[in-house]
Formats: sequence, structure tokens, C-alpha cells
Amino acid sequence: MSQTDDRDEIPEILPLIPLRDLTLFPNLVVPLFVGRERSIEALEEAMRKGHAVALVTQREAETQDPSPGDMYEIGCVATVMQELKLPDGTAKALVEGVQRFRVTEFLQEDPYFLARVELIEEDERTDTEIEARMRALVQDFEKAAGLGKPIPQEVVVAAAGIEEPGRLADFVTFHLHLSVEDKQQILEALRPKDRLEKTARFLSKEVEILELGSKIQDRVKDQMSETQREYFLREQLKAIQQELGQTDEQQAEIEEYEEKIAQSGMPEDVEEKARKELGRLAKMPAAAAETSVIRTYLDWLTGLPWRVQDEEHLDLESAQDVLDEDHYGLEKVKERVLEYLAVHSLTDKMRGPILCFVGPPGTGKTSIGRAIARSLNRKFIRMSLGGMRDEAEIRGHRRTYVGALPGRIIQSISQAGTRNPVFMMDEVDKVGMDFRGDPTSALLEVLDPEQNDSFQDHYLEAPFDLSDVMFITTANLLDPIPPALKDRMEVIHFPGYTEEEKLHIARKYLVPKQLDENGLTPGKLDIADTALTEIIRRYTREAGVRNLERDIAAICRQVARKVVEGRKGKTRVSSRNLTDYLGPPKFSYGLAEENDEVGVATGLVWTEAGGDVIVVEATKMPGKGEVSLTGQLGDVMRESAHAAISYIRTNAETLGISPDFTESTDLHVHVPAAAIPKDGPSAGITMATSIASVLMGCPVRREVAMTGEITLRGHVLPIGGLKEKLLAAHRAGVETVLIPKENVKDLELLPEHVRDDLDIVPVETMAQVFKRALAAGCAPKRAKKRKARGTSG
Ligand code: ADP
Repeated sequence: MSQTDDRDEIPEILPLIPLRDLTLFPNLVVPLFVGRERSIEALEEAMRKGHAVALVTQREAETQDPSPGDMYEIGCVATVMQELKLPDGTAKALVEGVQRFRVTEFLQEDPYFLARVELIEEDERTDTEIEARMRALVQDFEKAAGLGKPIPQEVVVAAAGIEEPGRLADFVTFHLHLSVEDKQQILEALRPKDRLEKTARFLSKEVEILELGSKIQDRVKDQMSETQREYFLREQLKAIQQELGQTDEQQAEIEEYEEKIAQSGMPEDVEEKARKELGRLAKMPAAAAETSVIRTYLDWLTGLPWRVQDEEHLDLESAQDVLDEDHYGLEKVKERVLEYLAVHSLTDKMRGPILCFVGPPGTGKTSIGRAIARSLNRKFIRMSLGGMRDEAEIRGHRRTYVGALPGRIIQSISQAGTRNPVFMMDEVDKVGMDFRGDPTSALLEVLDPEQNDSFQDHYLEAPFDLSDVMFITTANLLDPIPPALKDRMEVIHFPGYTEEEKLHIARKYLVPKQLDENGLTPGKLDIADTALTEIIRRYTREAGVRNLERDIAAICRQVARKVVEGRKGKTRVSSRNLTDYLGPPKFSYGLAEENDEVGVATGLVWTEAGGDVIVVEATKMPGKGEVSLTGQLGDVMRESAHAAISYIRTNAETLGISPDFTESTDLHVHVPAAAIPKDGPSAGITMATSIASVLMGCPVRREVAMTGEITLRGHVLPIGGLKEKLLAAHRAGVETVLIPKENVKDLELLPEHVRDDLDIVPVETMAQVFKRALAAGCAPKRAKKRKARGTSG
């Protein structure tokens, strides 16, 4: 687009946009952000009428609502090459400068400025003097580029190719770092010769500064010895920065970082890296976007406890005291922990396997972890691995990502502020079960004493030594822990508590703790054992004591409030007035059924919350042999239901069931508490019992509960978590429990009084199960008669 063509089209009256901090020159293209309403209107008008717009710079960039007097008189007409409306109502335009103009008259101010302009013709003729000046200018420009000004080589080449003197001056000015006033001076220099001269002056000042910089450098180089080198380089940097207008504040900041780096105790190679980054920061203009990225990085690096660590003192006797002080029972756990600590005290580093505490919630895992930290005089930190599905959560993101941060390991260590805390990682059983990525391998590196002395975080890009951290992991279930991790760990089971143990824990630990936390004393509140027992039986249904503690806390809070409101004397809470505090009971205690029922059998399962008692219901109705299974059963549980049905079909005759029941009967098996997902094979014999019961029309004995996997041939296979299941049965008031014979060896782990209270019957075959579980007089051998009765009635 040649100038003459445009000029012909430029009308005398133009919409006008005031510019805050920008000066546009002819033949140059700049992006323009337009935010003010009037300016947007003016841009719109320009777009409607031939794309020409008058641009003038404001005298003060801060003026929000400039009047004609607030603007310079000389500006540049531009054509709008492109306009883009942004969602927030502002606009972005790409404009090309066309020609200088002078405002002769403002015709309107609203809704946008409209001005009459006089276009300024330029005299681009040259003579020898002008030629000489032009050449000198290009030379200086080249020199500035060579001295480290960020002027790309192409720009220098382009400058050398410009033949019109005025245009050359505009071009060079545009690429210099000048204030708006200085640039306006060039815009207002209408005679090319003047303009060249002024531009040359600005440029040579710039070159002078740059040369001064390199002169200092030369001098410094000559004079200094090796040790002084760095100091002088910094002085030189300061000098340059001052010349370039960098503030004292920035220098203070850089010195502060230097200090922090020196004091952080980071290893040498990391220190080198930090200094390199700091060097980059020092060279950047304060406003550059990247400075904040570097600052954040340096903050992380210098904030890490590279050397800080707690002085450890380990004395097994006092460790035992600490563990005993806060925990009732858990003898096996404490023993294993003390053994572990003993081994640790004999070896320096954290060699050997990682402890893994497995058990239902509220069984004291965290609390034992804290006690270990206390007895070692180390800090205690926790982090949950639950739901973690990405390696980057452990190792962090590389710094090239916007908003990148270190991974959770480094974040936790940084928070702890020491390099040898006791670090508890919760929920290892909930890690890496996702298709989006597998954090397991990163975790392996963290936990492996052979590798973790140089743990690599993607963000830090520097190894961190984790070998003095004492890792403890926790899980609710053992099976879902990735095998590779399980191999590294020494598992300690937290089985859950019996009613007596809970009562003791509540009386001795939970009540005093909650009284204290709520600002009460035993003189103000007494919670009787009857109340505690009632809470354990009817308000909570758990293997641990978490909800028990929560309910005790709820009572304490209510009493605390009454005390504040002026209640005098001691409040007594017993089973009689417990509902005033906690509302009606949430669970029924004892067995669900009052009488022996047909088609209802009690089973024992193992869930994340510990062992639990479930009821399996079966009914039959006329139909064509369809089977429905409901109650959110997992695949394994469904399969064992089908196995149970197949077993009953093949043995129908001995059981006294018409073998063709499948042709005339539909079966429905339901496991209530339908909202809770259930899975696993251990309800197999329970389902078989309830189905057999309904088909035989023979009630199941209500005081019998059972657990075991069933095979097609009616064998009873062993199951896991026996101890938890029996504790649950004991809690629920079951009298007789049928267990797989092969599980008898696990009974050793059971507290003696539980073993004494329960009638535990080992079984090997379904025949034995039926014999024990079905009501007396219902035994399969006499089934035929009953069948006759059943069909007639
Ligand atoms: P977890 O980590 O296994 O979910 P916590 O350690 O958080 O369980 O225990 C929950 C609460 O029960 C804590 O207040 C803890 O002090 C208390 N607690 C658990 N077991 C015992 C115990 N054996 N003796 C005393 N208090 C216990």
C-alpha cells in the first residue's frame, strides 16, 4: 500500500483516539488495546467509514478522561488493519501508521472525538549532509545492537535499507527505549534533518550507556584477582542497572536472595543453579513477566530444609512410655513398633522396610504415628495419597508449565521445615487405581532407601535427600495396595476394638481429651459408663473409635455451651438422658431379627470400616427360573451367589427341593443397606443358606452368623479378615459363628474373652453349615416330608 494512495483517501474529518503511552509513526504497525468507551466508539466509526482513524498521544498517560487540551496536537493517522472484540467489551486492533497530522479543530467530544485534521506532507529529498547523517545513524544503530541491546539483526538490516531520511529516523526511534515525551519530540520534528539529528542524539546516549557498561567490564577485568571477580562483576551489574534505571529496591531484593542462598545450606550444585537463576533475575527488567517465575523458584529452593534437622534421641524405654501413655491396648502393635525403632537405632539411616499400618478408620494409626514422632523428637507430617492418580502430584510439574509447583512430597517437607520428620502417607490403598497415570513408580522411588537420597522433583530440577525421613504409610485394606509397594513394607495390623476396649479407651482417653479440648473439667461433666456403652452400641457401628470420639465431643460442646450460659454444678450424662444430647439411637443393638425367619441368613463381611454383620434375604415367587441379585453387589459377590444357586440345584434332591424349581420359580436375593457397595466371596455360604432356606421353607436360626466362600461342590473355603469379622459378630451379639475350618489358625489373634463368648464352629462342607444354621428338625435328610407339606400349604 503506497502512501500516496492512502493519502488520497484520507478524509479531513476523522474519528480520533487518544493514546496513553504509545506513539505511532507512519509506516509502522502496532497492536492497540482499546478500553475506553469513547475510543471504542471512535474505532467503530473508523471501521464503518474507510478504516482511517486519527491517533494522538496524551500528555499524561494517567489521565482517564482526556479533554482536547490534554492531548498533543501532532499525531499520526492510521488505518485499522484488523479489529478483534474481546469478551470483556474492550477491543484489540492492529493499526498501521500512514501519515502525520495536526489537529486543527475538535468537532465533537461525544460519543467519540471527531476532529478536523490537517495532513502534514513530508519532504523526503536528500542531500549530501542528510546522506551522511543517515549513514551515521545506521552505524550507531548497528553498534547499539552489537552492545547487547535487544535489537534483532533483521531490524538493523531493514534500517540500512531505508532511503527516506524522515522515515529512517521514525524507524530507529520506534525501536529505541524512549519515553513517550521523547518519542513525541521525534514525531513533532517535521523537517527530516531535525528529526535525524534528534534521533541521533537519543541513540548516541543509549550507545554511551552501553559502552560505559562494557568499559567498566574491561576495567574490572584488568584489575581484579580471581576472588574479587564476582564482587566486581556484581558492582558492574549494579552500575549498568542504575544507568538503565533499575531501582534500589530490586538490588535490595537480589542481595536478599544472595543471603538466603548462602544460608540455606543447599548442596554445591544446587547452589550453583540457584545463583544462575538469580543472575538471570538481576538482568531482567523488573516488570518482565518471567521475574515472578524465577522469584517463586528461588523462594522454593531457599525455603527447603536442606540442612535443618531435629536432633534425634532414641531411648526405647521412654519410647515405650510415650506409646503407653496415649494408647490403651494395641500390645502387638506397640511391640512391633518398638522392635522397628530398636533396629533403627542400630543402623544410621532409615534402611529397612517402611512401616505400613493397616486397619479400619479410628483404630489409632495416626495417633501411634504421632507418638512415634514424639518419642524420636521428630516433627510429624501427614499427607493423603487418596485419589492421587498422577505422577506429577508426587514429583511436581516442570517449570515450563504456567503455574508449576513442586510435588506434594517436597511441599510437605518444605512445610515441615526439617529434613528428618516422621512422614505419614495415608491411604496407600487408594493410589494409582486409575487410567490417567500411575504415581506408584514415583512413590516407590520416594520410599526406597536405596534411591531416595536423591529424590528428583520435576520442578526443583535438583535432587533432594529424603533418606533421613521416616516414612510410615497407612491403609484401610491390605489387598488394594499395589504389590510393588506392598513388597517394600512391613505391615502392622490394627484390627479394631472390642466393646470393652472401646469403653476403656473412652473412659481413660477420649473423655478426658474432649473435656480438656472443650474447656471443661470432670467437676463440670460426668459421662457415665452406661452412656458410653449406649453410644458404643446404638450410636456408632465401627471397628475404631472415631465416631465414638465425635459423639463424646458433641456432648462436651453442648455442656460447654450450657456452662457459658450460666449453668452451675455438675452435668451428669447417663443412658437415661443420652437422647437429650445425641437424639434417638442410630443403630439397633443385637440381632436384627426377633425370630427365626425363612430366607434370612446372617453373614459376616469385611469392609473398609472393619468387620460388619450383614443380612442376606432371599425370596421365591412363581416364575420361569430367573434370578435377581440386588443391594449393590460387586462382581465377585454375584458370582458367588450363582455358585450357591448351582450348588443347590445339583443337590436339590438331598435338600428336599423339587429339582425342577428353576422352571417354575423366580429367585430374588437381596443384601440390605443397598446404598453401600459390597463385594468379596466371603458371603457365599450365607447366600447359599438363605436360598436353601427359602426353597426348603425352613427357617434359619437367628443367633447363628457365618462366613466362608462356597465352591460348586459345596466345600467351604477360607476367607480373610477373620478377626475383624468375629469382633463385629461379638459386637452384634451373635452367639454362634460358623467359620471355614482352614481359618481356625487365625483364631489365635482373637482376644480371649471374645473367643470365650462366641461359640465358634469350624465347618468344611455346606452340609455342616445347613445342619448348624437351619432350624432344628429341618435337617436335609428329613426334607422330603417337609417338601410335601410345603407344596400343599
Ligand atoms: P486412624 O488414623 O486409625 O484413623 P486415629 O489415630 O485418628 O485413627 O484415632 C482416632 C482417635 O481415637 C484419636 O483421637 C486417637 O487418639 C483415639 N484412639 C485410637 N486408638 C486409641 C487407643 N488404643 N487408645 C487411646 N486412644 C485411641
